[in-house]
Amino acid sequence: MRQTFLRTLSILGLSFAIVTSGTGQTRLMAQSASAPSGAAQQQPGGAQLPWMKESMTKLESELVAKYGEGERARLNRGLKQVASFWRTEDGGASVFEDFVRTHFAGDAKTLDTMFERFQYNLEQVDGHMLEIGREFRQQSDLDAGPILPFDELFAGYDPSAHLTDDFFQNKIAFIVLLNFPLTTLQERLTQGEKWSRRQWAEARLAQRFSKRIPAEVNLAIAQASSEADRYIAEYNIWMHHLLDEKGNRLFPAGLRLLSHWNLRDQIKADYSADQNGLAKQRMIQQVMERIVTQSIPEVVVNNPGVDWNPFTNEVKPAAVKDSDETSRSSAPQKAPTNAPEPNTRYAKLLLTFQASRKVDPYSPTAPTLIARRFDENREIPEARVKQMFEQVLTSPLVPEVAKLIETRLGRPLEPFDIWYNGFRPRGTYTEAQLDEIVAKKYPTAEAYKKEIPNLLTQLGFTKERAEYLANNIIVDPARGSGHALGASMRSAKAHLRTRVGKNGMDYKGFNIAVHEMGHNVEQTFSLNNIDYYTLQGVPNTAFTEALAFVFQGHDLELLGLAKPDAKSRALKTLDDFWGAYEIAGVALVDMAVWHWMYDHPAATPAELKDATLQIAKDIWNKYYAPHFKKRDVVLLGIYSHMIDSFLYLPDYPIGHMIAFQIEEQMEKAGNIGPEFERMAVTGSVVPDIWMKKATGAPVGPEALLAETSKALKEIAP
Ligand SMILES: [Zn+2]
Repeated sequence: MRQTFLRTLSILGLSFAIVTSGTGQTRLMAQSASAPSGAAQQQPGGAQLPWMKESMTKLESELVAKYGEGERARLNRGLKQVASFWRTEDGGASVFEDFVRTHFAGDAKTLDTMFERFQYNLEQVDGHMLEIGREFRQQSDLDAGPILPFDELFAGYDPSAHLTDDFFQNKIAFIVLLNFPLTTLQERLTQGEKWSRRQWAEARLAQRFSKRIPAEVNLAIAQASSEADRYIAEYNIWMHHLLDEKGNRLFPAGLRLLSHWNLRDQIKADYSADQNGLAKQRMIQQVMERIVTQSIPEVVVNNPGVDWNPFTNEVKPAAVKDSDETSRSSAPQKAPTNAPEPNTRYAKLLLTFQASRKVDPYSPTAPTLIARRFDENREIPEARVKQMFEQVLTSPLVPEVAKLIETRLGRPLEPFDIWYNGFRPRGTYTEAQLDEIVAKKYPTAEAYKKEIPNLLTQLGFTKERAEYLANNIIVDPARGSGHALGASMRSAKAHLRTRVGKNGMDYKGFNIAVHEMGHNVEQTFSLNNIDYYTLQGVPNTAFTEALAFVFQGHDLELLGLAKPDAKSRALKTLDDFWGAYEIAGVALVDMAVWHWMYDHPAATPAELKDATLQIAKDIWNKYYAPHFKKRDVVLLGIYSHMIDSFLYLPDYPIGHMIAFQIEEQMEKAGNIGPEFERMAVTGSVVPDIWMKKATGAPVGPEALLAETSKALKEIAP
C-alpha cells in the first residue's frame, strides 16, 4: 500500500496532488498499536510459548535484584511487550533470557544513551532510505528527458520495504520494546497533555515497532490494493456514446471520463456550460447511480464500441467512431447486451476488506481496520469524528446555503447539486493575464529559487528566517505538476519540484509551487527545529495540507497583485463549506459500510451491494433529503476511494475543519511567519494536543462553521 508516498488525490478542487514524505507521513501510515498486558494473549505466536511465563518470572526477580525495586514496573512492562511479539523462530528460552539480560537498560544513564543513539540511527536510516528512493525516482519525477522501461523499475523500488522485518529479525525492534513504552490512543489522549516532550518522543519511538505483521499478510494487502486500484483506474465512461431519449449525443467526441473524479468534475464544469448544462448533469447523475447500483451494462464500461442510453439502459453497437482504442471492457465482445456488471465493484471492495482482516490478529489493541484508521492513523476516536461530521451535516447553516444555491441557480436543488461549484469567486485577472505575469517573472525554476527569500519575507518571515529556509530548499524542475519532498534527516534538504514550461512558469504552476513551498517550510521547521527526531513532522496529512494551503491562499499577493477582497473570500468559504457538507456524508457512508462488512464477514458481493445502497440512502434521507426534497438517492456511494482506499474518505472533511482552524489562527495572529514556525515545531503529537497548542481548541468544525456564518452575511445580507 501507500507507505512513504501518499497517493495523488484530487478532491473538492483542492490539490492533494502532493508527495509529502519523510517519516512524519510514514509514521502516519505505519501501524502503531500498543500491546498492554491483557491483549497479549491474542497475539499469535506471542506470549503463549510454553516456556515464556517461567522465563519472565525468573528474569523479573533476577533483574530487580540487580537494578533495584524502582525498575520493576518498567521491566515488567518491557518483558510483556517483548513477549507479545516473540515467535518461535526468534529463539528458545535461553535466547530470550540472554537477550533481556543483555539489552535491558537498568539505569537512567544507560537508558538515556540508548534513547539518544536510537534517535540518531533511525534518523540515518530514514533519511538515507528516503534519499535512495528520491534518487531512484529522479528520472520519472524530474523534467529530464525520456523515461526508459528500467527507470520505472528503479522508481517502483522501495529500499525500506523490509526494514521493520529486518529489525525484528536482528532484534533491534525488541530492544525498543524492552525499554520504551507502547501506549494506547486512550493514554495518549488522556495523559499525553501531561507528558514531557521526552515521554512523547519515547512513545513515538516505541510505536514504530508496535506491530509485527507477517510478510505474507502485507503481500495479501498489497495484492488486494493493486487489484482494486486497477479496477478503479480502468473504469472509464465514453461520453460521446451516451444517448438521450431522442438519440442526441450531449458530449463531444473522444471524451472519456474516469469514475468518479472526472464524472464529478464534469458536473461541476457544466454549471457554466453554454448549452445543455443541466441535461448533461442529469445524465451524469444517472450514469453514477447505475454504477453504484451496478445496473450499468457491463459492456459499456471503458468501451467506445457501444452506444448507451443510461435512462432506458438500452445498448447498441456504436453508430459513430471517435476512438482508435479497442474496447478494454472485460465483457465478451459479441452482440452488445445490457447484462449488468456482475457486482464487480463490491467484489473488489470485499477483497480489500478480507485482506485487511488478516492484519487483525497481529493488532491486538486495534483489532479492526476501522480501529487502525481512527485510533492509529488519525488518532482521533471514531465516535468523535462521527460527531464532528454530524455537526456539519445538521448545522442550521446547511438550509441557508442550500437556499442561496437555489436562488443562484434559479431552480430547485437536484441531487447532483451536492457538487455545486458556483461559489467559485471570479478573480480580477483572467487566467491568461496571470499566466503572462508569472511567465515574465519566472522564466525558469532557477528564477523561482532565487525569489524564495523575498516570497518568504512577504509572508512575514524575518530576513534571517527567510534565508535559513531558502537555504534548506532545493528547487528541481518537475515532470508533473509539482510536489514537495521532505528531507527526513537534518543533514539533507527538502526538495521543491515545480513545473516550468518552455515559455516559463504559468499561473497554475506558480500557485502549486507556492503550495509546495509551504510544505517545504513546514518540513524544514518540523525536522530541523524539533527537539526529538521521533517527534518530527506533523500529526497527519491534514495538518501538512492545511499549512500548505495557508501559503497557497496568498499567491496573488506574492505576485504583487491585490489580495482577494472580502466578497471573494466569502465565496471561497461557502464553496469549502458546501464541499465539507458533501464529503462528510460520503465519509459517513464509507464508515458505515466498513462496519457492515465487519458485522457480516461472510457477505457476498450482492449482499454488500444491497447493504451499501441502504446505507447510502439512509444517510441521504437523514441529512440531504430535507434540503433536496428527494428521497432514496444513492449518489453518496459513488466515490472510488470507497472501493480501493481502505477507509480513507473521512480524512477529507477532517482536513477542511483543520484548514479553517489554522487559517483562523493565522488571521488572529496577524502574521504568518512566526506563527507558522510556532505551530510547525510542535511535531507529531496527537492532533488534539497539537491543535490546542496551536489555536487553544481541539480539532473540530467550529472555525469552519463560524467562517461560513460570516460568509453568508457577506454574500446574502
Ligand atoms: Zn499539499
